[in-house]
Amino acid sequence: MKIIDAHTHIDYIAPDVDGVVCCATKESEWQKIIDLMKIDARVYGAFGIHPWFINDIIFGWDGRLIQLLQTNPNYMVGEIGLDKYKPNMEKQLEVFVKQFDIAVQLKRIVFIHCVGAWDKILHILKQYKKSELPIIVFHDFNANENILLKLLQYKNIFFSLGKNAVYGKNCRIEQIPSDKILIETDAMADIVLIDIVNEISKTKNESNMADIIYDNAQRVLKHE
Ligand SMILES: [Zn+2]
Repeated sequence: MKIIDAHTHIDYIAPDVDGVVCCATKESEWQKIIDLMKIDARVYGAFGIHPWFINDIIFGWDGRLIQLLQTNPNYMVGEIGLDKYKPNMEKQLEVFVKQFDIAVQLKRIVFIHCVGAWDKILHILKQYKKSELPIIVFHDFNANENILLKLLQYKNIFFSLGKNAVYGKNCRIEQIPSDKILIETDAMADIVLIDIVNEISKTKNESNMADIIYDNAQRVLKHE
């Protein structure tokens, strides 16, 4: 069984995966991820600033992000997002919109963290033509049915399932099409990816879910 972890961070790379997306949370991690990619061919890097760490930003970060992405066409954008339970939504929005636009303009896959800010995310998506949006992965997806239906109108959106799938929270496994599902540890060593695959297989009554999820990740990472 081949497995790709669609979302982790620099402090935890699951030992038994065939591929892994390592998302930065702040600029000081960018070089660490680049160094890791050099020694571990399984690692795909995503670069950006997480909404929890917007207070750490250093002037000129956006120009440096653009330059990093332009010189490395295979680099992705992440982890960026909005989180209602963290301070300073205005600043979060400013930093998110800037990074999302960079991902759109440079046509990069983007990994998004959204907690309780779906109205804002949906509004931002509407500012773009559907055809110009890159592949978007919502990590640790968890939202109501109404939001999921709106997101499913975009064919480039994927849903990464992690701790919420294990702990039985509302991640809408039944309603997400099988070809849009990814799985993730989000850097939690106690998350066993095979358990998530099994949970999805059981809910969807689909025996080859591991292969489907692996193919989905390949499609995202290799643009197949
Ligand atoms: Zn994360």
